[in-house]
Amino acid sequence: MYQAVIGLECHVQLDTSSKLFCRCRVTDGAPANTHVCPVCLGHPGTLPVANARAVELGVRAALALSSTLHRISVFARKQYFYPDLPKGYQISQYEEPLATGGRLHVEVDGERRAFGITRIHLEEDSGKSVHGERVTGVDFNRAGTPLIEIVSEPELRKPREAEAFLRMLHRVLVEAGVTRGDLEKGHFRCDANVSVHRPGEPWGAKVEIKNVNSFRYVARALAFEIGRQERLLESGGTVVQETRSWRGARTASSRVKEGSADYRYFPDPDLPPLQVDEALCQQARSALPGIPLDLWLQARDAREGDAFRERHQLDDDTAGVLLRHSEVRAFFEATVVAGGDGVQMAKWITGEVLRRINEGEDLADARISPEALVALEGLIQDGTLSRSMARDVFGELWTHGGEPRAIAERRGLRQVTDDWLLRDLVRDIVARHPRQVERYRAGNERMVGFFMGKVMKATGGRADPALASRLVVEALRRV
Ligand SMILES: [Zn+2]
Repeated sequence: MYQAVIGLECHVQLDTSSKLFCRCRVTDGAPANTHVCPVCLGHPGTLPVANARAVELGVRAALALSSTLHRISVFARKQYFYPDLPKGYQISQYEEPLATGGRLHVEVDGERRAFGITRIHLEEDSGKSVHGERVTGVDFNRAGTPLIEIVSEPELRKPREAEAFLRMLHRVLVEAGVTRGDLEKGHFRCDANVSVHRPGEPWGAKVEIKNVNSFRYVARALAFEIGRQERLLESGGTVVQETRSWRGARTASSRVKEGSADYRYFPDPDLPPLQVDEALCQQARSALPGIPLDLWLQARDAREGDAFRERHQLDDDTAGVLLRHSEVRAFFEATVVAGGDGVQMAKWITGEVLRRINEGEDLADARISPEALVALEGLIQDGTLSRSMARDVFGELWTHGGEPRAIAERRGLRQVTDDWLLRDLVRDIVARHPRQVERYRAGNERMVGFFMGKVMKATGGRADPALASRLVVEALRRV
């Protein structure tokens, strides 16, 4: 009965060697304040000069996202006070950004959807506050690092759509060489806005969830926040416009959001309007394929998917499952290299392996080797183990590793495949149950199951099921 409206803002670090308005190097993890100069520290009398490489990467991002590039854009000062902002303002773009519009195509639940992009603008990063035990310091190495901010249209409705949008945006920008896209290092940071309203009514107050650094967590945070707002409205409360942060299982209020008017934007008098000439456009375009990069990536995925499916003779669903999990796919391919049959290996992996992963276990921590899984399947094929015995052995291989044949022997797992031994056993059981034989002869086929149960019980579950069932039917017909 409520509908959610989600908008995304991503801050993407451009892959340049120097900062946006000075020659300081962009570094990860250098000692604090070792890559600073009067320009990025905002000393009076210094003049910023725009980094051509950063502009080119911004242009490339705009082209890759099918945005309308503006040949002239304007840098603006965004004023706010924060200890990690040395100038007391951030150089960004406001009324005249680098690019506007654009679309990103994503697949959500097997369906292709297009979501709009509002704008792309260039801006500089702030420094970092470093919290010690008794003092807080500031590190300005990051101050002035080139970013683009990409704002989505508020067209997303579901957390899953937001997650798919972010994953595709990240892929496009990494593929285009715009960013290195390392999430751990903060190269791709995302804020999500979300509000809920009843269909036909005005949109609700917007809550912003700040800096969630994993796509899955963005989806979780949004799902939590949508539920929280719905419950609040349902119980007669009001949603306050505020900034909240994701705390692992829930969102928590961090501050009441300032409106954009508080920033007192105005064009930066030290920087001329940014002009993008034809040569720069050509250069940015030359790094991209002729069609929109998201569609190009999807076409490449489909081609690779087809080749993968054909190579291993898999059906669409199985291939799709394996391709969705890159580490699972790598393990599958290793079993095939180790001599496994693609179809049989895929059954193990989409069954036993994925079940454990879905229960929260990690394939990287599992002790089973691809060779062991191939050997285990070999024990089924040569009749040594039944499938259910093999699943037991698999459990031990997963947790402790080892060699399947040795594990099966140690646990006394071996199918009874001896024709004569089983034949005598079956005859004996049939002879001891004349009433059930009568019912079988009266046409009750289900009695075969009764005798199979007896055979399995007598052998401790070790009888080869196919052989046992054939012998039971033979014996019943002969009585
Ligand atoms: Zn500098």
